[in-house]
Amino acid sequence: MDDVIRLLPEGIANQIAAGEVVQRPASVVKELLENAVDAGAKSIELIVRESGKSLVQVVDDGVGMSTTDARMSFERHATSKITQSEDLFRIRTMGFRGEALASIAAVAQVEMRTRLHDQEVGTEIVVQGSEIKKHEPIATAPGTSIGVKNLFFNVPARRNFLKSNPVEYRHISDEFHRVALAYPDIAFTFFNNDAEAYRLERGKLSKRIVQLFNRNYQQQLIPVEETTPDVKVQGYIGKPEYAKKTRGEQFFFVNGRYIKNNYLNHAVSTAYDKLIPDDFHPFYVLFLEMDPARVDINVHPTKTEVKFQDERLLYGIILSSVRQALSKFNVSPSLDFDSDVNFEYFTSRRETMETPSDRNYERFRAIDQQEDRGALNWEKLYDIAKREDEDVRQQAQMEMGMEADAPTTMRVPSGMALDREANSATEASKSLQLHGRYVVRQVKSGMVIIDQSAAHERILFEKYLRTLDGARATSQSCLFPQQLSLSDGDFTLVQELRQEIRQLGFDFETFGSRSIVLTGVPADLSNHNEREIVEGLIEQFKDNRDKLRLEQRENLARALATRTSISRGKVLDNKEADELIDQLFACEQPNYTPNGHPTFVVLGLDQIASYFKK
Ligand code: ADP
Ligand code: MG
Repeated sequence: MDDVIRLLPEGIANQIAAGEVVQRPASVVKELLENAVDAGAKSIELIVRESGKSLVQVVDDGVGMSTTDARMSFERHATSKITQSEDLFRIRTMGFRGEALASIAAVAQVEMRTRLHDQEVGTEIVVQGSEIKKHEPIATAPGTSIGVKNLFFNVPARRNFLKSNPVEYRHISDEFHRVALAYPDIAFTFFNNDAEAYRLERGKLSKRIVQLFNRNYQQQLIPVEETTPDVKVQGYIGKPEYAKKTRGEQFFFVNGRYIKNNYLNHAVSTAYDKLIPDDFHPFYVLFLEMDPARVDINVHPTKTEVKFQDERLLYGIILSSVRQALSKFNVSPSLDFDSDVNFEYFTSRRETMETPSDRNYERFRAIDQQEDRGALNWEKLYDIAKREDEDVRQQAQMEMGMEADAPTTMRVPSGMALDREANSATEASKSLQLHGRYVVRQVKSGMVIIDQSAAHERILFEKYLRTLDGARATSQSCLFPQQLSLSDGDFTLVQELRQEIRQLGFDFETFGSRSIVLTGVPADLSNHNEREIVEGLIEQFKDNRDKLRLEQRENLARALATRTSISRGKVLDNKEADELIDQLFACEQPNYTPNGHPTFVVLGLDQIASYFKK
């Protein structure tokens, strides 16, 4: 009788624990994979049938277990991983409650085969609903294989509760991704219904990401690396233009353990602010290493939520490291322009020994100190390019037997005119407009194609932001003051924004209870339809406010930029096209419009050449 009394509560306890630990097939996948990782496996195989409902099996080449340990591993609170309770606070491995195998065995049919590397014979154990059905020696490979069949076979209510195969498969695939990302130095294979879903070789994190997600990720990744006394942050983030509408490929690992944390996620999103549309989500895989004692230990190990002692500090560190990584990529469109003549010239003149990435970093750091970093950067490089042109021109003149210092245009012998004309045409205007929509310019690495409307929007946005922060824009009086009747709401809004609107260069008086009289507009906009601009500004502001929840100042700058940027179809002369390019690259974030659309693309020489290869 004693036995019965002792066993019954134990069985119930197991089922209760099982309910907590094993929610669905994906939970089994997670526990088994983590045990294999903890066992020091170098290579792990995951086999799944019917989305784990009929089989989840994990085969590893880790340490394996002795026959006693194998039997013990199915006991509740049996764990080899804690010797003192203090270890609970320090432990770095992921599972540590010694409950997983016991719980799984309570609600499934489990077959374990395991062998220590220095033993010739292994052990097979079969457990079904917590009952040991078999425990005997067996010939098997070193390491451990655990197969979990017919999950919840003895808990029909739970089995019925499982979702459709595609849904359960997605959960499994999520768990697989998390473990595979956390351990790029372990090889993984994943068979789903006998088909190979993944084969991941051991290697660097970047390679793991590319193998897990897809080839294209190769071009998308920006490395993040930041070490502070409190935390080390490293990993990869995606370039803004690859952000997706669906959230998903976002991973935080704390000391190797996958976690979800909205607050930290917000830190990353904030770093992407203005680089991507608000409803888009950037890709990231970030690893935080910190003192385990500073991560809240009261959290259930199967849950992914954790608490940090210094969340705000962590927030700040993540925000700044992601920003910094983005800036390195953004300030100099380095990936595209690094091989540009300007850069080569610049660096060779300095005769430095730095690696390209150091160089970018230093440039960023130095330029960061300056007020207008974009302008400085581009102009500096641009000046050098001009100087180089000067050299070339002088060289050409000498070759033609002319004095080098004389103004080019006056000294061209008539016989050379055509040549020179062609030459000076390229010198005077480096850019060409296409179809009233794009501006094209040659760079050393190929050509850059700029979307004129997008570029102008970015330029104006930054300009308006500066205006709102600094001196009021010059205003030009309207020839005929214009009266605008507004709705109640718009009238109130205009009153609210009065100061900022004035700052941007508009002048107006209120008139009656719902009208304003426009007396002046920003000087640069004086040739626009003034009434349309103001009405458009109000409309756009409201739209941004409702859809994007932007802060007022930014909203105004964006709204006015959207409404006043040059449209597609606007013909630009060469000088205007040049100016547009110069101004764009003087921007802090030249790559994207405030809404996150690209402003330019670079077509590399290689790519152009590839169109012609036979
Ligand atoms: P925990 O992982 O929390 O210790 P589990 O119930 O998951 O608890 O596992 C119990 C014990 O079984 C582990 O502590 C470990 O000693 C052993 N074990 C489980 N899986 C493996 C494996 N794949 N290889 C070697 N030992 C394992
Ligand atoms: Mg475990």
